[in-house]
Amino acid sequence: MEILIDLAYIVASILFIFGIKMLGNASTARKGNLLSALGMLIAVVATVFYKEVVDYPLILAGLAIGAVIGWIWAMRVQMTGMPELVALFNGFGGLASVLVGWAEFEFGKNTDPVTQIAIYSAILIGGVTFTGSFIAYLKLAGKMSGRPTLFAGQKAVNAVLFIALLALGVVYVMTGSAWSLYVIIVLSLALGVLGVLPIGGGDMPVIIAFLNSFSGLAGAAAGFVILNKVLIVAGCLVGTSGIILTIIMCKAMNRTFGNVLFGGFGAVGGATGKAVEGEMKGISIEDAYYALEAAQNVVFVPGYGMAVAQAQHAVKELGALLEKNGAEVRFAIHPVAGRMPGHMNVLLAEADVPYEQLCEMDAVNPTISQVDVAIVIGANDVVNPAAGDDPSSPIYGMPIINVHEARTVFALKRGKGSGFSGLENALFFRENCRMIYGDAKETITGLVAQFKG
Ligand code: NDP
Repeated sequence: MEILIDLAYIVASILFIFGIKMLGNASTARKGNLLSALGMLIAVVATVFYKEVVDYPLILAGLAIGAVIGWIWAMRVQMTGMPELVALFNGFGGLASVLVGWAEFEFGKNTDPVTQIAIYSAILIGGVTFTGSFIAYLKLAGKMSGRPTLFAGQKAVNAVLFIALLALGVVYVMTGSAWSLYVIIVLSLALGVLGVLPIGGGDMPVIIAFLNSFSGLAGAAAGFVILNKVLIVAGCLVGTSGIILTIIMCKAMNRTFGNVLFGGFGAVGGATGKAVEGEMKGISIEDAYYALEAAQNVVFVPGYGMAVAQAQHAVKELGALLEKNGAEVRFAIHPVAGRMPGHMNVLLAEADVPYEQLCEMDAVNPTISQVDVAIVIGANDVVNPAAGDDPSSPIYGMPIINVHEARTVFALKRGKGSGFSGLENALFFRENCRMIYGDAKETITGLVAQFKG
C-alpha cells in the first residue's frame, strides 16, 4: 500500500507541475486548473489510505464541510472580490500548518531536531500567514481602513519581534520546551498582524501573492513534520510560484519589495505629485460613435472599472462591431490593471475575446502613435502619464500604457474618482482626451446601440 500511495503522489506531483505550466497561457489555463485539481484529488484520496489514519468519519465530515463551504464561497464571489477570497484561503492554509505543527508537538512521537525545526517553521510561517492574510482580507474587503497604519517605532517593534522569534526557535529546538512553542505561536500571530498593518490597501494584492508563497512554505514545513511527500512538493510549488508572482507585480509597478513592505504607500500626507491644471472635456456617446466609425485602428485599455461595471461582454460586442466596420482592434493589457494579476485576461476570456487580440503593454506601446482611438475603460493609474514625466509622483517609474500618444483617447469613467493610488490623472486633461462619463457598461452598450443603428 505504501508503494501505491507513493506512486499516486508522484502522479499528483506531475499533474501539479503540468497544471501550473498550462496556467501560463490563457488558452490552456482552464485545463491546467482542472489538471491540478485532479492531482489534488488523487493526493487526498491516496492519503486516506495511510495506515496511520484512524478516524474515517471525522475525515469525511471535514472533507464534506470544507468542500461545501469552498464551493458555495467560490460560486458566490464576485470577480472583484477574488483577491480577498484568495487572501482568506491563504490564511486558512497557514492556520492548517500551525495546527499540524502543534498536533505533532502535543501528540507526535518524533523528538529529533529535524522534526523540531519543521514544527517550528510550520508554526512560525503558518502563524504569520494566518493573521497577515486575515488583515489583508479585512483591508481589501473594506472592513478596516485600507490606509497604512503607522506608529512611531513600528519598524523597531517588528524587528524585535522577529529577532525574538528566531531566538525562541533556537530555544525550542534545543530544549523542546512547551512554553517556548506556545510563545512562538502567540508571537508569530502578532507578527502577521503588525507586519501587514503598515501596508496600504493598494499594495494588498502584492502582499497576498507573498503570503500565498508563505502559505506554500508553511505547507512544505508541515509536510516535513508529518513526512508527507506530496505536501512538501505542493508546498514548494506554491512557495516558488507565489514569490515569482510577487516579483512580477513589484516590477510592473517599478517598486522594490522592500518599498511595498515598508514604504507605507498611500499613507495620509504622502506624495501626490505635481498639481494637474486645465479641465476635463466631455463628449457625448453620439459624437464618440462618429469618431469610432471613422477609426481604422482602435485599442481598448481595460482597467479596474471594467471589472466593477462587468462591461466585458459589451466590450467584446463593440470590438466585433468595430472589426466588422473595418478597424483593426486590439486589447492592451497592463500587467497590474485591475486588482490582481491576470484580472483583465480572465474577464476578457470569460467574454470570449479572441486571444490574438490581447496585446501586452510592451507590444502595444511602440505602435500607439498609429492608434486612431484608444478607449480607456475604467483604467486610471495604468495610463497615468505622470508615471513617465513627473518625478515627484509616487507612481513615477511605473511602466504604463502610453495612450496619451494615441491620436484620440476616450476615457470611460463614472466621474472624477481617482485611481487606486489616489492620484489625479493628467491624461484626462490632455487636448486629445475626451471623457465619456457614466458606468462603463452603460456607455459601451450605448456605443453598441449606435453602431447597430
Ligand atoms: P484604477 O484603480 O487606477 O482606476 C479605476 C478607475 O475605474 C477609477 O478611476 C474609477 O473612476 C473607474 N471606475 C470604477 N467603477 C467604474 C464603473 N462602474 N464604470 C466606469 N469606470 C469605473 O485602475 P487601473 O486598472 O488603471 O489600475 C490598477 C491599480 O491597482 C494600479 O494602481 C495598480 O498598481 C494597483 N494594483 C494592481 C494589482 C494587480 O495585480 N492588478 C496589484 C496591486 C496593485 P470613477 O470612480 O470616476 O468611476
